[in-house]
Amino acid sequence: NDVLSAIDERDGRVGAYLTLDREAALEQAEAADEARAGGQTGALLGIPLAIKDLLNVKGQPCTCASKMLEGYTAPYDATVIARLREAGAILLGRVNMDEFAMGSSTENSALGKTCNPWNFDHVPGGSSGGSAASVAADEAIASLGSDTGGSIRQPAAFCGCVGLKPTYGMVSRYGLTAFASSLDQIGPVTKTVKDAALLLEAIAGHDQKDSTSVDVDVPMFGKKLTDDHSLAGMKLGLPKEYFVEGMDPEVEQAVRDAVEHCKNLGAEIVDVSLPNAKYAIAVYYIIATAEASANLARFDGIRYGMRLDGKDPIELYGKTRAAGFGSEVKRRIILGTYVLSSGYYDAYYLRAQKVRTLIRNDFIEAFRQCDAIIAPVTPTPAYKIGEKSADPLKMYLDDILTTPVNLAGICGMSIPCGFSSGGLPIGLQILGDSFKEENILKVGHAYE
Ligand code: GLN
Repeated sequence: NDVLSAIDERDGRVGAYLTLDREAALEQAEAADEARAGGQTGALLGIPLAIKDLLNVKGQPCTCASKMLEGYTAPYDATVIARLREAGAILLGRVNMDEFAMGSSTENSALGKTCNPWNFDHVPGGSSGGSAASVAADEAIASLGSDTGGSIRQPAAFCGCVGLKPTYGMVSRYGLTAFASSLDQIGPVTKTVKDAALLLEAIAGHDQKDSTSVDVDVPMFGKKLTDDHSLAGMKLGLPKEYFVEGMDPEVEQAVRDAVEHCKNLGAEIVDVSLPNAKYAIAVYYIIATAEASANLARFDGIRYGMRLDGKDPIELYGKTRAAGFGSEVKRRIILGTYVLSSGYYDAYYLRAQKVRTLIRNDFIEAFRQCDAIIAPVTPTPAYKIGEKSADPLKMYLDDILTTPVNLAGICGMSIPCGFSSGGLPIGLQILGDSFKEENILKVGHAYE
């Protein structure tokens, strides 16, 4: 009820929600109360969550913030949703995002505008902007987002939340509308690191329905967090390449202060190098667009959502896709088709895959020298709405510090580490080797 009244009070300004299933939420809350009275326990029992509008929740819309999927109702639950239901969580509603998760500011949503709750003139980040804004505005206790190149960590940083991208394969992608299948992961956006640990614990683990989900034991992440706030015995790597040219000095200072703080908590700071990270943007925008062009081929006007008539199927496809997709989505489909086309495949796609391996190898080498890496999340705090939307390239370049993590498949988390002089949150990124979520949660929790 507190969350519902926060939504009533604030969401008119914030614009995090696309749809809210008030009645279902109240019913689920009642069921959770009953379960609790009956002796059921569990960290997520009765906890209201906001769900990014690209995860299938049976009976609810799943628009991916696209006109293409307006009116579409999900016929089944994503695995993560089924697991949350089992844990007794309340599925409050659907939150805004960049169309098909393509973007960094939620300005690419075809269905609504979301503002940064810290300052309504600024973007909440993206693509999981609705997730981060809803949590920051107390309109949900936590949210699920997805991260292909930073879409959980960057909005969490912009809105002062915790955002965790799990290792590729840690969480089942079944029921997640695919953007770039080799990069996508579902993860939590929360207020605290402990909450992120509990939510991850609930959604992680092998799933027969996703052959890329890995059969690893999921640790009790929540229980493992101790409250001694000590990093004694931990080695934290500081990558010099992550303090990029053009970085806002306030962001750099906040991160350097955070490094100092970790040192005071007992961590040993070591210098590490990620020499190929500078190629991440180029590699990411080749691989992600290539995969997107294939994944989005399913939206053809026949199977899902919008359909405009044509005299033959070709005309039907063309008309529907022209009307259904926004300009950023079209740009990426065209780019992706281009880099995969026979004359260019070797020059772009194949080469990008090779550099992807180099980026992965850099991390393997770095994690020989440290338990986790600490770095900035974004070069700047949240910018003004409209400031970068006319220049897609400028917006792409801001993904320089988040995309290497997805390309390498490792895990990463963003936690708040200060504010700019303009009162906007600044994020600290903590990276861990594959399936070493425990390490980054430990660092984050000690820092909090
Ligand atoms: N900003 C990046 C992009 O536009 C990342 C998006 C994401 O992680 N879904 O592709």
